[in-house]
Amino acid sequence: MAAARKRAGSRGRHAKGAMPSYGSRTDVGLLRDHNEDSLAVTPPLYAVADGMGGHAAGEVASEIAIQTLVANAPDAPDADDLTRAVVAANHAVIRAAAEGVGRKGMGTTMTAAMLDGKRLVVAQVGDSRAYLLHEGSLQRITRDHSLIADLLESGQITPEEARVHPQRSVITRALGSDPSTLPDIYEMNISAGDRLLLCSDGLSGMVDDSLLESTLDRVKDPQRCAAALVNEAITAGGYDNITAVVVDAPSNAEAIVKKQMRKGRIAAVCAAVAFVLLLAGAAFGAKSYLDHTAFLSEKDGSVVVYRGMPGEIAGVTFSTFDHDTGLAADDLEGLPANVRERLAEGIRVDSVADADALAQTWKDQIEQYKKDTAPAAEKLTEHDSSADGASETGAAHSDENRTADDSAKQGDDA
Ligand code: MN
Repeated sequence: MAAARKRAGSRGRHAKGAMPSYGSRTDVGLLRDHNEDSLAVTPPLYAVADGMGGHAAGEVASEIAIQTLVANAPDAPDADDLTRAVVAANHAVIRAAAEGVGRKGMGTTMTAAMLDGKRLVVAQVGDSRAYLLHEGSLQRITRDHSLIADLLESGQITPEEARVHPQRSVITRALGSDPSTLPDIYEMNISAGDRLLLCSDGLSGMVDDSLLESTLDRVKDPQRCAAALVNEAITAGGYDNITAVVVDAPSNAEAIVKKQMRKGRIAAVCAAVAFVLLLAGAAFGAKSYLDHTAFLSEKDGSVVVYRGMPGEIAGVTFSTFDHDTGLAADDLEGLPANVRERLAEGIRVDSVADADALAQTWKDQIEQYKKDTAPAAEKLTEHDSSADGASETGAAHSDENRTADDSAKQGDDA
């Protein structure tokens, strides 16, 4: 009797029909000497944290963040409550560093998901990721907070360049530094048979999306699937710590979704892409996300800023026009890559201020492009004189560069 009860309570795997099954694996990889990733599988909560800070401090940061998250997480998917748990994790890492646990400047990513029935809420800080496999096709849910993501979105580099970029590990948001840091929140309804993957960049950076997709589709058992994914990252070189959490949505969710759709409830968009995030800000309190997030688009020949998200879900849009940047869309033709093309779909950024900053970057680039394409002779002379100048100015310049590099590296570590 006691044994039976203990067994039933010991694992979420097959408790109550509605519980999802899941599997996870974390591995140090081939090049690192310790594993700074941490994870949690405590249904309905699943999370991956990738710590950083050097000298094992990353381990401390990710472990504190995960433990604090688990201790503060709500019982059911709720955006506000999950946000509060992530905020508590952030404060705990900051406090620990201040008290001499780990090291100053340690930090961690946090990708936390709560899945109950068809309801999925994901909280995101950093460059660990959440993906959803729906009917065999993979959809990335989260947006990385990384330098590379910014460069990609602004069209300054291609995905191929991103994969080998020297600064690909630089993240722009982490737990452990700023007490006011908030996670991005994604809310959606998923379908029966959908599969959720949470992973650190040691997986997504080593294994491309098409292989993630085929493995998630092929290996049915979630535990074996997590192991297979980690093995693929190791086979690809295992440059970083690798963590994968695979969660299968319970099979009875489909009926609920269908029922809701029959009732015409708008929230029951069934596709994997059903990125409801916000749809219902109204209903689920994700409204603040929509208020803050923004994107750049093209309107009447100008580059303009919208608040909210581009596109529409089930015929509903989630954006409002904010302002014109004063930049003509035609001028973007001078920029490398496909900025203008991507503008048509909307280029997402974190805030209206970020949208303006990106537009300003483009203006500067266009300005530079115009200069570069005009009188080339002048530029060459300038370049030559500083190259063989060996002067005091030259030395001062290189010192400055080193300092800039050093602080960039510290930022990288931090
Ligand atoms: Mn990593």
